[in-house]
Amino acid sequence: MLFGDDPPPPKLVGIAKLASESERLEAKRQVEYLELETRRFIGRCSSPRMPFVWTINPYRGCEYGCKYCYARYTHEFMELRDPELFERRIFAKHFDAAAFREEVRRIPRGQSIWIGTATDPYQPAERRFRITRRILEAFDAEAGYELGITTKSDLVARDAPLLGSIARRNRIHINMTVTTMDERLARLLEPFAPRPSLRIASVKTLTGAGVGVIVLACPVMPLINDSEASLEAVCASAVNAGASALAM
Ligand code: SF4
Repeated sequence: MLFGDDPPPPKLVGIAKLASESERLEAKRQVEYLELETRRFIGRCSSPRMPFVWTINPYRGCEYGCKYCYARYTHEFMELRDPELFERRIFAKHFDAAAFREEVRRIPRGQSIWIGTATDPYQPAERRFRITRRILEAFDAEAGYELGITTKSDLVARDAPLLGSIARRNRIHINMTVTTMDERLARLLEPFAPRPSLRIASVKTLTGAGVGVIVLACPVMPLINDSEASLEAVCASAVNAGASALAM
């Protein structure tokens, strides 16, 4: 060995050899949570193309990190231009129940309010901060509202009894996104979101509690999840779980 040369790497044997050959199943990243003050909790949607008038996003950012996520740009409003920060720096909005109820009561009955239009309201942060839960508790005291919740998390099943209670005096439906039933493909597309089978299981729990669920098989991406077999698999799972509709 010449002076200055690196020694050759040791020959790996046994468990060290196996470890070096291991395939990565999943990688966990450090995610930070911050609290964000907010002047208003409910926003008005100006686009006539959307099926809702009012939006509620309990968090900014979304840990699920879907490759096709359309909402990453929302972090730019906070001068966070690295697109990956959208999934690693999550802002939980400060929630004041009394102020929130005041905002709700200013909305005319019958106008639709959607929760989770630029974030998933049941992402992992919800287990700790329970903001979506507190929003729903506020709606449980109201009547005559039209609510939609969009998620791809089975955590929504935690709130099935509460959602069933809200459904008795309001119109409410859950939009459960299931882009594919292929778990390997789902892991590539939506790396940190719950498995499709868990989402379908939560559809069953919700429908059992009297809550209407629409399965959203979207986005449909050419040559990725647009085959007849793929769409049929999602459709069959949705029907078996009792979903009231499938949308793409
Ligand atoms: S769940 Fe929705 S908001 Fe979250 S990363 Fe995926 S597409 Fe974006």
